[in-house]
Amino acid sequence: MNPDRRLLRRSSSQSGASQWGMTTCTQCGFTYGTLSRHELSPRLRECGGAYGERLAADAVVLRTRLTPGQWSPLEYACHARDVALMQRDRLYVALVEDEPSFKPMYRDQRVVFDRYNMQMPDVVAGQVTMAADLLAHAFAGLEEAQWSRPLVYGYPDPSRRDVEWMAHHTLHELVHHLADIDGMVGGE
Ligand SMILES: [Zn+2]
Repeated sequence: MNPDRRLLRRSSSQSGASQWGMTTCTQCGFTYGTLSRHELSPRLRECGGAYGERLAADAVVLRTRLTPGQWSPLEYACHARDVALMQRDRLYVALVEDEPSFKPMYRDQRVVFDRYNMQMPDVVAGQVTMAADLLAHAFAGLEEAQWSRPLVYGYPDPSRRDVEWMAHHTLHELVHHLADIDGMVGGE
C-alpha cells in the first residue's frame, strides 16, 4: 500500500520550522507553519462559515464555470466540504496506524459522481460549515504527542508528514478555494 520509501522526501517527524520549509502558496498567499496549533481549529471554523456566506450569492453565478479550467463556486464549496470530511477520517486513521498512507480522494471524479453543481447552495452552506466544524473539533482534541504522529501524504508528491502538517495543509485547501470563489463572486 505504501509507496516506495525511496521516493519519499526526508522525514518530517520533528516538529518546528524545519519541516515546513516556510512554503507559501503563490496563488492564495497561505504560508505553512505560521499558525500555532491552537489557532488552527478557530481558523478552520471561520473558513467554514465564510463558505456559508459566499453561498448566499445568486445561484446562477454559483453554478457558473467562468473558464473550462475552473470549477464553479458551488463546486469549489462542495470540494471544500468533502476535503474537510476526508481529512477528518485521515486524521483518525493516523492516530491509530503508524505512518499510514491514504487512498486519493479522486477530486475530479467526485464533481461528477456527487453532482456538485446540481446541489442546493443553501444546503451546501450548512454542510461545509458543519464539515469544517467537525474537523476543527477533531484537531482541537489532540494531545501533544498526537500532533507529531507520522503519516505519508500523497500530495503534491508522496512525502513523510505529520498530523500537524496535515492540519495546516487542510486549512490551506479551504483558504485556497475560498479565494477561488472570491475571484468569481467577489468576496472580501
Ligand atoms: Zn493556496
